[in-house]
Amino acid sequence: MIETTNVKAFGTEAAEAPLNELGISRRKPTAHDVEIDILFCGVCHSDLHTAKNEWHGTQYPCVPGHEIVGKIISVGDHVSKFKVGDTVGVGCIVDSCRECQYCQDGLEQFCEPGMTGTYNSPDKYLDTPTFGGYSESVVVDENYVLRIPENLDLAATAPLLCAGITTYSPLRHWNVGPGQKVGIVGIGGLGHMGIKIAKAMGAEVVAFTTSEAKFAEAKRLGADEVVMSKDKDQMAAYTGKLHFILDAVSAEHDINAFLSLLRVDGSLALVGAPEQPLPVAAFSLIMGRKSFSGSMIGGIAETQEMLDFCGEHHITADIEMIDIQEINQAYERMLKGDVKYRFVIDMASLKK
Ligand SMILES: [Zn+2]
Ligand SMILES: [Zn+2]
Repeated sequence: MIETTNVKAFGTEAAEAPLNELGISRRKPTAHDVEIDILFCGVCHSDLHTAKNEWHGTQYPCVPGHEIVGKIISVGDHVSKFKVGDTVGVGCIVDSCRECQYCQDGLEQFCEPGMTGTYNSPDKYLDTPTFGGYSESVVVDENYVLRIPENLDLAATAPLLCAGITTYSPLRHWNVGPGQKVGIVGIGGLGHMGIKIAKAMGAEVVAFTTSEAKFAEAKRLGADEVVMSKDKDQMAAYTGKLHFILDAVSAEHDINAFLSLLRVDGSLALVGAPEQPLPVAAFSLIMGRKSFSGSMIGGIAETQEMLDFCGEHHITADIEMIDIQEINQAYERMLKGDVKYRFVIDMASLKK
């Protein structure tokens, strides 16, 4: 029998219910576990979709949160990578099978039997779903824990654990770098990270938005050029000019219009998830040998690489800090796109 402790958390018991304080059980650290006191937790759109059961399959109670930054308060007997007092992060993955071809390649996000998500996955140890970072503490196997660079602001680093790796991984995979023109579509939680990271990788960054108000913002974030994507003339000026496009839009949009902006052999990768299928015209791909693809977070080693890269280039997210008691209002504001660009929960508020 595995020993557990009771931990204070914030979550929901049903799709229609608001988030409230509740108690959960966490396992006591086993030999390879570290116990982390949670300092900050970013608020991802997935949290909201899962809490409200919009992707179906939510197990209740549901405690969201997979952009976790905290300090280690205890370690299991066989932990070798971390010690008490270390500042660490936990992203979207807390375990995986460790044996399949993808786990062996460091692609735990595509683990064949399925990765263990930080929340709403079957817990390997307990008869409950996994519970995320809207809580006092979390216990995680050391192999799924990340080191946080010392020079970064901890609260603003939390969103790197999901929004950061979600944009870094495709930019790295498609070899974005100097001499390239890269498009970032949508300037929200994901897009604003995409602009910063693509710029730091040395690319020339073109941001695409439907909002005039975001022009100055995109420039401030590091975009070299900004395009109003609803304006046909502005779009036409970029026909065949881009090496790569990172598409972070979750709303309906004209994908063929963006494919036409790619050069020969260019790729467009989706990281946003529109509800309805996107109609892609065959000729949008055939003319120019173009690729239409997608990407999902990143593996553990790559997430560490991303954090180290962000440390080196002084990159963090632009955040608005909230108390946990404000989470329901924060969800309302996220639905309206009213956040610059990520809410981060100061978890000290849960201890009040
Ligand atoms: Zn996320
Ligand atoms: Zn696996």
